[in-house]
Amino acid sequence: MERLTVLGATGTVGRSTLDVAARHADRYRVHGLSANRDVAGMLELCRQYRPAVAVMADEAAAAELSGALEAGDATRVLGGAEALCALGADPDADVVMTAIVGAAGLMPTLAAVEAGHRVLVANKEPLVMAGELMMRAAQASGAVLLPIDSEHNGVFQCLSPDYRCGQRPASVRRVVLTASGGPFRGWSADQLEHATPEQALKHPNWEMGPKITIDSATMMNKALELIEASWLFALRSDELDVVVHPQSLVHALVEFDDGSTLAHLGRPDMRVPIAHGLAWPQRHASGVSGLSLIEAGRLDFEAPDDAAFPAIGLARRAMRLGGLAAAVMNAANEVAVQAFLDGRIGFRRIVDLAAEALDALRDEHGAAAESIEQVLSADAWARERTGASLEAAHA
Ligand code: NDP
Repeated sequence: MERLTVLGATGTVGRSTLDVAARHADRYRVHGLSANRDVAGMLELCRQYRPAVAVMADEAAAAELSGALEAGDATRVLGGAEALCALGADPDADVVMTAIVGAAGLMPTLAAVEAGHRVLVANKEPLVMAGELMMRAAQASGAVLLPIDSEHNGVFQCLSPDYRCGQRPASVRRVVLTASGGPFRGWSADQLEHATPEQALKHPNWEMGPKITIDSATMMNKALELIEASWLFALRSDELDVVVHPQSLVHALVEFDDGSTLAHLGRPDMRVPIAHGLAWPQRHASGVSGLSLIEAGRLDFEAPDDAAFPAIGLARRAMRLGGLAAAVMNAANEVAVQAFLDGRIGFRRIVDLAAEALDALRDEHGAAAESIEQVLSADAWARERTGASLEAAHA
């Protein structure tokens, strides 16, 4: 039996992971689950999967969960940031899925990597913020990182079976990540000025949590994915490309030195890459049917519209700047996405705020991060700065 921990179990990726694991009950036992405040969701998961440990990042939510579980329940409930990191590092687990959203996943992900676990990486923001430290930690601990983001998982599947994340893949000339284009594909910058949260939350192809759905609408998701890919596959910005593919059936392409290009295709359902990560280096069922190209009919590709969607250019700038620039961009974006969802700013202001944070970078942000404290401090600086810009605009 493999003992599985799911960080961010109540979210979209967390639940899909448990769905896949439940199809192979003879292979996986759920060891640990985590959430933030969703007590009802966690209670339901605890009753269904009977984990040994359940952690709520929010202490009050942990107390509530503890009270709601029956006396005979075997689940130990813990609360707070330290308990979350301890769960990531818990030696009683074999596999850890990181499915917390945003920077909140940084420390528990690092804990899982430092503990030398097999880590299924869905939560992309920690790699964006601290890619170098994360990859160094994996090398030191022997942790095996398996990409779960569908595009990165697609790239991984196109590489040779002995390839491990963190190495530069042999004979690879270029990697292309596809982007659906989101709900606003084809919209002009002027039209985007009036885009509402309701419209932005309607992704045409994928069922996802609200933060990544807004990131997909601004193309910041693809921007974060470029940085994520640069760390996972040790590639430079000029070796990574993005192509818009509205059907979301081709997830990634890998071009080799001899001119061959391999592509990864599959239905847009996260259970496909999750099953791949869980079963690797074997394969097992995910619950998702195969792809019929006849049913799909056509596959379209187009260049991203960088004028209307400047996020990808911003990520390339952050990669050029290096150091803590990507952590700063990520933090400003998180604050801006929340402000947009709260109706405080317009759609186009999201990426503008991330760009303004990069414009305001200080000298100390240019140096490579030597410690996680430096990453946390850059993250806090960018959040404070972006929060102050929002306050000033409303004053
Ligand atoms: P969701 O919003 O659906 O779920 C987020 C999870 O994180 C929930 O379990 C939530 O708990 C928990 N969480 C939120 N805030 C905190 C916090 N401060 N501390 C601890 N836990 C917290 O997100 P998704 O499943 O959509 O995405 C998860 C990650 O996977 C993201 O980084 C995303 O970019 C990445 N990803 C997602 C894909 C998708 O299809 N959804 C595809 C590829 C990557 P609670 O429910 O209690 O709030």
